[in-house]
Amino acid sequence: MEELSRLFRSAADHAADYRRSLPDRPVGASIDQSALADAFSGPLPSAPSPPEQVLADLVAAAEPGLIASAGPRYFGFVVGGALPAATAADILAAGWDQVATNAVTSPAAIAAEAAAGTWLKELLGIPASASVGFVTGCQAANTAGLAAARHQVLADVGWDVERRGLLGAPPIRVIAGEERHGTIDRSLRLLGLGADVVEPVPAGPNGAVDLGALGDVLRAGPPGPTIVCLQAGNVNTGACDRLREACELVRRHGGWVHVDGAFGLWAAASPGTRHLVDGLELADSWACDGHKWLNLPYDSAFAFCARPEVHAAAMSYTAAYLVGSGGGVPVGADLTAESSRRARGFAVWAGLRELGRDGVAALVGRCCALARRFADGLTSAGFEVANEVVLNQVLVGFGDDVRTDRVVAAVQADGTCWAGGTTWRGRRFMRISVSNAITTEADVDRSVAAITRLAA
Ligand SMILES: *Cc1c(COP(=O)(O)O)cnc(C)c1O
Repeated sequence: MEELSRLFRSAADHAADYRRSLPDRPVGASIDQSALADAFSGPLPSAPSPPEQVLADLVAAAEPGLIASAGPRYFGFVVGGALPAATAADILAAGWDQVATNAVTSPAAIAAEAAAGTWLKELLGIPASASVGFVTGCQAANTAGLAAARHQVLADVGWDVERRGLLGAPPIRVIAGEERHGTIDRSLRLLGLGADVVEPVPAGPNGAVDLGALGDVLRAGPPGPTIVCLQAGNVNTGACDRLREACELVRRHGGWVHVDGAFGLWAAASPGTRHLVDGLELADSWACDGHKWLNLPYDSAFAFCARPEVHAAAMSYTAAYLVGSGGGVPVGADLTAESSRRARGFAVWAGLRELGRDGVAALVGRCCALARRFADGLTSAGFEVANEVVLNQVLVGFGDDVRTDRVVAAVQADGTCWAGGTTWRGRRFMRISVSNAITTEADVDRSVAAITRLAA
């Protein structure tokens, strides 16, 4: 047992040392992929190895290939950091090795999910009666939400899709913004609807759906099973669809509204941005990430559904040996596509306790303010900010596409900060996402200076 304590402590120490190095460490990897492959490869040993040796070898092999995406100057994708208590809770979850299928396999994990789920709904303004599935990412949350949607719109016309599948089923219309996230299409593929089913709705100036166009698309097709995917947080611009008006339009026509709010739904948690997602409570299902803007460790996301019985009908299963699932209040695996599951609710609970309501609001508000600071700094330096910075996303142009791509590559190679490239409306941009609780004004200023220097 002494040895086990030493081993676990050593793993935690390595992780903490790494975290401490983040503010000063170059943001990119220090060796190339083939060198990393060499460091990890070799024949599968036939003999066992001492655990301390395995851990030391793993640290030595992996360290040079880690990306400082948990650090304060990583602005790629919408990655977010990892809060201390939430990370420590994940270390415990690994140590406890719980199976969060239901309250028989892990009463504590299910209780943590229940408490954290209540807090999440309160923070986001989702009805308290909604169900919450704790899933791996917003991809999985979109799949669960759209599975519930598929279930109900077909049930409304007398078709039980869970038993009969889609062969011979009445057709389903799926309406979604043309600037939707790519995971919506993958969810539709996984659900047997196919990506081509989407009737795209043109976007307005900043990338939110055009409401007039949404009305036109709704009216252009027959009544019947209809799913509408809205978005809170355009992955390029941060724009949020006008949820209240859009939901009211769909109500009048008939249909299920699913909101992909991977990061943008967190606008609800801060007084300064709450108006951007006004009316979100009118939707039927919501997908939101914990590992992005809430700064929980990967992987962690939430699938909310206004009708828990529909959510469970779409996702749950039972088996003769399974007790604790099926029937009663759906929990754990009743609401997700996994059967055996990691107990990720502990980290969610810990992260929300750590921040508190005020801390979540401050995190969202601060990231938005820092995104505006980025935009102001880069505009002053003479560069083009292409989007209206309403949330935490900034799109920057450095001239023509070739030049913009060269600046993005130079910034990534330099290592002061990291930002990705993107194509928006046919043009290349640098995409900056501010979503880490530990990013400061000084980090933004240092990054603006590096970008300006490299673009010169
Ligand atoms: C990131 C993102 C997703 C996918 O989320 P994962 O956590 O990567 O599965 C879906 N929609 C939007 C808008 C996103 O930003």
